[in-house]
Amino acid sequence: MVTLPDAKLLIDGQICDASNGKTYDVISPWTGEKVGVAADCTADDVNRAVAAARRAFDTTDWGSYENRHKRLELVKKYRELFEQNRDRMAELAIHEAGAAVGAVSRAHVNMALDGWDDYIRVFEQVTWEKDYGQRETWGMNHHRIAVHEPVGVAALITPWNVPFYVGIGKIVAALLAGCTVILKPAPDTPGSGGALFGELAKQAGFPDGVVNVVFGSDPAMAGEMMVHDPRVDLISFTGSTGVGRRIMQEGAATLKRVFLELGGKSAKIVLDDAPNFAMDVAMTMLVFHAGQGCAVQSRLLVPRSRYEEAKAILKGAYSQYGDNWGDVNNPEHIMGPVISKKQMERVLGYIELGKKEGATLLHGGNARPDKGGGYFVEPTVFVDVTNDMRIAQEEIFGPVLVVIPYEDDADAIRIANESEYGLGGGVSGSHDRAMKIARAVRTGTMSVNNGMSIAGDIPFGGYKASGIGREWGVEGIEEFLETKLIAWTE
Ligand code: NAD
Repeated sequence: MVTLPDAKLLIDGQICDASNGKTYDVISPWTGEKVGVAADCTADDVNRAVAAARRAFDTTDWGSYENRHKRLELVKKYRELFEQNRDRMAELAIHEAGAAVGAVSRAHVNMALDGWDDYIRVFEQVTWEKDYGQRETWGMNHHRIAVHEPVGVAALITPWNVPFYVGIGKIVAALLAGCTVILKPAPDTPGSGGALFGELAKQAGFPDGVVNVVFGSDPAMAGEMMVHDPRVDLISFTGSTGVGRRIMQEGAATLKRVFLELGGKSAKIVLDDAPNFAMDVAMTMLVFHAGQGCAVQSRLLVPRSRYEEAKAILKGAYSQYGDNWGDVNNPEHIMGPVISKKQMERVLGYIELGKKEGATLLHGGNARPDKGGGYFVEPTVFVDVTNDMRIAQEEIFGPVLVVIPYEDDADAIRIANESEYGLGGGVSGSHDRAMKIARAVRTGTMSVNNGMSIAGDIPFGGYKASGIGREWGVEGIEEFLETKLIAWTE
């Protein structure tokens, strides 16, 4: 049996327990059993973390322009420490987030660390100063420049699905920009989303108060406090659309900069002239990390003229995939459990709803307690789905694919766009036709013929209810900068 190291907080340069000594159990999604303990932070801990971040920003030169290369060097050292802890990262991703061994290297460790390297590479592209030149006004020459400065204290609130990837996406960008931070991961993933970041930040030698990490069993308390606190300048949030909406509302009182990476219900459109129709249809099988990805293509749109063929392809693909998932010891497996009992019940609830709404279950649909004591839902696909069904509109965040027929290109675009979300998406077909469709879908990323639209050197984010702002790439660093305009007379 695995026991993870105790997850501790980092407040003002000190690795610590909660101020009242309370802890909570970390539960393995594989077994449903305790796999570690985490500090259960108090309101006082959150207050101290915010105070430390404020002090470090206001009274040190951490965020200064002159200090920017020193920040870069510390961020590189921090990266090197993560490199030395790849095994711990993998262990945490498996036992906290429920990552299958075959999925760990991709989304959880390699992709996260590659993204970190990308941030380091694009750092030199950050615009710190822009010269707007002279302009004559009132008979005098005025010279204008914009300087880009760190926003200040940034609260970084992250979800449980890919804690390293999302955590790195925020903390590295914020630190490079010169902000001081309070990282707040989800209760389910205190070690991967928080404690390892804190421990290694301490080892890297960031000045006290620059990096703070808090977490606890209450999903909302620490985040809400930071959203309300006037000492916090910016909230960078990744999570569900409902919570994102609330953060925006509550943050209005102190006019917070809010940056939101939210949910999705992305469409994959396969055109009748897709170079490899069968492969494109089969590839949408929603199994990786049990479908718990924000930008997964969970609505498959296929031409009505080839709908029966697509069904047969999917039936074959799911049957062939069979029971090759859900074994924590199998390095080939890319699908494990869903994160929690609550999430399993939610996913099963949607499966029941799909049946009631009149969709046809083509494959799967059941909980799989035989896989272990954890939270296993088998790969599931619904056909005969119409886009107005709730299973086609709402984010299920589990291994459930819905397949919708369309009449022609315009109909495919209409269906893809008839969604409150706009995060990811894809289209496969002859290049020019697919590109036209890619431009017409209202979404933050679009993949044409399986082009990789997510990487650390390119911006990622959502349209509509999928978010506000962009993470990763130079845009991701610049999210943490303010613009100050300075003009002088000559
Ligand atoms: P969630 O919204 O429940 O929680 C996200 C974070 O917010 C957690 O740290 C949680 O503790 C905190 N939180 C909860 N209530 C809060 C409140 N009232 N105020 C402040 N903070 C609060 O999301 P989740 O279940 O952890 O993650 C799944 C969701 O995240 C999905 O909707 C998924 O699409 C989304 N997600 C989006 C992206 C993206 O980049 N767009 C990436 C990963 C996950």
